[in-house]
Amino acid sequence: MTNKITKIGVLTSGGDAPGMNAAIRAVVRACVHYNIKCVGIYEGYKGLIENNMVELDARSVANTINRGGTFLRSARCLEFIEPEGRKVAYDNLVKEGIDALVVIGGDGSFTGALKLNNEFNFPVVGIPGTIDNDINGTDYTIGYDTALNTVVDAIDKIRDTASSHNRLFLVEVMGRDAGDIAISAGIGGGAEEILIPEKDDFSIDRLMESLAHSRKTGKTSSIIIVAEGKKGMNILEMRDYVHKHRPEYDVRVSVLGHLQRGGAPSCTDRVLASKLGVGAVDALMEGLSNVMIGVSHRKAVTVDLNIALDKNRKLDRDLLRVADIVSL
Ligand code: ADP
Repeated sequence: MTNKITKIGVLTSGGDAPGMNAAIRAVVRACVHYNIKCVGIYEGYKGLIENNMVELDARSVANTINRGGTFLRSARCLEFIEPEGRKVAYDNLVKEGIDALVVIGGDGSFTGALKLNNEFNFPVVGIPGTIDNDINGTDYTIGYDTALNTVVDAIDKIRDTASSHNRLFLVEVMGRDAGDIAISAGIGGGAEEILIPEKDDFSIDRLMESLAHSRKTGKTSSIIIVAEGKKGMNILEMRDYVHKHRPEYDVRVSVLGHLQRGGAPSCTDRVLASKLGVGAVDALMEGLSNVMIGVSHRKAVTVDLNIALDKNRKLDRDLLRVADIVSL
């Protein structure tokens, strides 16, 4: 295919994630490498519709690799879900002479990118930027590693107070559909039980048995990790239930919330974001479109966006088994 790309647009969309700045920076500098222009679009698809854009050169992304969040900002944009909104966005892309779009975000953002491509045959490439690690076809998403480190740090601190007071802590972590943060941070933080959205077989009885077992084996404090999307009782109902049936436990709830999104990206996320940012521009320059740049076995890989959006992404069952064994 003849390569006609001379100007690439880049945006961050959906939930922000540490490392998004590093990805933008890599896209901008890869454009400089190819001697083509790069335009940053503010606030995701909202900025496309409102024509809120800025030309970016190598220096305009200086001192961004270490910063959390996204300097292009992110937004949820309902207008883009409607075909009329996407038409306005497309018209602005054409008006600004942009030939292709790099979308850094999660599954919602990828769905929007696919629609833009399907309707206007506009070249799009996705970069997985979400702390949830819930995208199919990539081992890791940008922001996941930083969020894990934040959660493990929080669990360590909670453990200090838990063990000083014989307390049981229910710690809620992010993960509406995917239990990746809960499982990995649970293992890394030495949790006793990990409750995730994918595990339907978990019942409160199992938790009660596990607590009884812990008492018998001499554990005096416990940490239970609860992914926000866990089915059944919510975390406050669980607290009340445990409190009622095992009054010897001083049960406390800690919802980590948005602190999991913030902070300087870890080195792993900076390197991942740099790799995927360069990979996205490489892909567009090779004439590819409708793909996500993910990582597999340490290499950047291209994955069809439809596959990236596959909801049947498999949970790492081996890790669940490890969690069960090491929490004894
Ligand atoms: P994430 O990308 O993190 O999953 P969202 O689900 O909020 O975050 O999606 C981000 C943006 O992507 C939305 O605000 C909207 O502009 C766009 N988007 C999401 N779903 C669709 C859809 N079905 N069709 C078109 N655009 C969508």
